[in-house]
Order: sequence, then structure tokens, then C-alpha cells
Amino acid sequence: MSGSVDLTSRVRAALDTVSDPATGKGLLASGRISGLVVREDGRIGFVLETSAGAADEPLRQAAEAAVAAVPGASAVTAVLTAHSDTPPGASQRPSAAPSSIQPSGSPRGVPAPPRRPARHIVAVASAKGGVGKSTVAVNLAVAAARAGLRAGLLDADVFGPSLPTMMGTVGRKPELTPAKKLEPLTAHGVTTMSLGYLVSPDNPVVWRGPMVVSAVTQMISDTAWPEDLDILYIDTPPGTGEVQLTLVQHLPLDGVIIVSTPQEVALADVRRGVGMFRKTAVPVLGVIENMAWYELPDGTRDHVFGEGGAQRTANELSTPFLGALPILSELRKGGDAGAPAAGGDGVASTAFALLNDAVLDAVASAPGKPAPVLLFE
Ligand code: ADP
Repeated sequence: MSGSVDLTSRVRAALDTVSDPATGKGLLASGRISGLVVREDGRIGFVLETSAGAADEPLRQAAEAAVAAVPGASAVTAVLTAHSDTPPGASQRPSAAPSSIQPSGSPRGVPAPPRRPARHIVAVASAKGGVGKSTVAVNLAVAAARAGLRAGLLDADVFGPSLPTMMGTVGRKPELTPAKKLEPLTAHGVTTMSLGYLVSPDNPVVWRGPMVVSAVTQMISDTAWPEDLDILYIDTPPGTGEVQLTLVQHLPLDGVIIVSTPQEVALADVRRGVGMFRKTAVPVLGVIENMAWYELPDGTRDHVFGEGGAQRTANELSTPFLGALPILSELRKGGDAGAPAAGGDGVASTAFALLNDAVLDAVASAPGKPAPVLLFE
């Protein structure tokens, strides 16, 4: 452990040897570095905050090189990202959403995206609402960014988009690029898009199946995703009925993760859901058990909702069990505050780093090949 503490201080010192042209101070001292993760095996990732966009690429390279030269560093990934300095209200144009995003009963033949939005695309699903699906999706994306991946998060939970609250982007609106694409919003090192950015919370929309599919596929194709996203997590609407199945079949997914609590009632739905997903070409990458236990002050575990149910169900269904997540108040608080706990220093950040690794392993060993590029033409 102390080895990694030493490595962390060496990395921090190295970051300050590179000076920020704006302040003349070191990058760390200038507050330009966020999401620094130093692993014991020497893998290091961090985010260089910029408002200059690609013009800061040489600075990113200098920071990466400085850290790579630190004894003990085995692999370094520096991600360039930007805070939106747009003051709230500055871009309140209702036209921020291309008209093709507006709910419409029939798909409007928008051009297919020229490329996959990310190297890997993983949907997070649950049989019912309230089991922590959005919490898991948001924190996995933040954990992926902390691990040095270029991570994206698409909130396709049209029935209750919670990404803006959980990622702290409420009030921000995507700008339109000159090519009339939506500029995704970056938060906590993650590139994000949500229907919540486009549809007013005061003007709820009643979504029917085909609308959901067309809105979500259009939201993917009308967003100016960065060229080089490693992974895009998609928070899907709760339920494993027709809408969800059609949706996942229309997205170019590597696979789907199912989030469940350990109760028998929830697990019965998981069994049904896995069975239904299996009828599609979308691999079920595994099950995550959420709210698995609550740790009492004396360190013992209270299995509030039953013990090991999701793991047993996963085994029964021959689906990988990706991990169990306890009830952690930092997860609830982080979600409410727009500061996901995976980006903090508590237990949740370690848990999600491991869960994200488990998802990536499951993607690597998934039986199906990633879906073809122009799937939703
Ligand atoms: P869903 O997307 O399945 O509807 P959410 O992710 O919105 O569920 O979670 C529902 C509520 O439970 C939120 O308030 C969230 O912060 C909280 N929550 C989810 N998982 C946990 C957890 N492991 N520990 C503590 N609170 C959690």
C-alpha cells in the first residue's frame, strides 16, 4: 500500500513539473488535473481539464510523458476533457435538440451514423425500476474514465432520465455543432448525452414503444461523440418487455448487464429477462447484484434483501455473476449531489473499479462479436 502512496506522490510531483501556460503554475497546482487514479501495478490515469479543446493536445502529451517517466509507472493514460463554461441559461434555445430527436411515432429515415459511437457499447438493464440500474450505469462510466478509458454514458431511460441529476449536469444544454450534431456534455471525465438534456422535466412525454427506439437510436446518431471513445455505457429504461428488447436489438451493443436486488421477486423477473434477451442476438454479459447487504457499525453484514440470490440466479442461468454491491450511503448521496461516488475516495470507487474491470472482461469473452457498425440504418 505504501508503495502506491509513494507512487502517487511521485506522480503528483511529476504533474507539477509541467507548467500550465494559463497560470505559469504546475498542472496539479493549477487545478487542471482530475480523476487521478494510481494503481498498485503502476497503471495511471488522469484527466486534463481544458477549455481549449484539441489545442491542448501537446499539453496532454507532455503531462502523459512526465508521468510515464516516473519510476514505477507502467502505463499512463491521460484524457483531455473540457468543462462547459457555458453559464446556465446561455443556451436555452429550444432548438438545441435537432427536430429528429423530438418524439415521433415513426422513425424518420435519418441518415445512419458513419461509425460506431464507441469501441465497446454496453447496455445496463433491469427487470424493474428502483433497483439501482442508473446508479450502476453512471458509476461504471465514471469508474471507466478513472481507469483511464475514454468513457461515454448515454441515458436512454426515457421514462425517468436521471443522468443530469446523478452527473451534476442539470441546467446545462448541449450546443449544436456546425454539422448540426449535439455536442455531448462532459462531466466527471465522462462524455454524456441524455434525453433529460433535451426534454423539459415540466413537459413529460408519454412514450410508446416505437418512439423510444427511434428517439434513442437518433440520440446516438445525432450526437457528436468523440472519435475515440473506448466504452459507451447505456442506461436503458427499466423492464425487460418488448420496448427494451426492441431497443437493445436496434443498438450496436456488445452486450447487456442486468442489475438486480437479491429478493426472490426481483430475481423471478431477472430469469424472465435473461430468457428474453437470450432470444435476441445480444449477449447477456452478466448480472450485478445491487443492495446486497448493509454493513452494521460492528462490521457484520445485514443482508436486508436476502443473501446471494442474484449470484445463485446467475449460476442457474449460466450467466456470469459480475459482482455484488452493498448499500452504501455514499452512493445515494453522490447520486443526489451529482457527484458519483465512483469518482470519490470511498469504498464505492474501489467497488466500481472492480465491477468495470469485470464488465470489460465479460465483453472480451462474450460469445458474440460486436454488432456491425451500421446496425440502425
Ligand atoms: P433505477 O435506475 O433502477 O430506477 P436508481 O439508480 O435511480 O434506480 O436508484 C434508486 C435509488 O436508490 C437512488 O436514490 C439511488 O441513489 C439509491 N441506490 C441505488 N443503489 C444504491 C446502493 N448500492 N446503496 C445506496 N443507495 C443506492
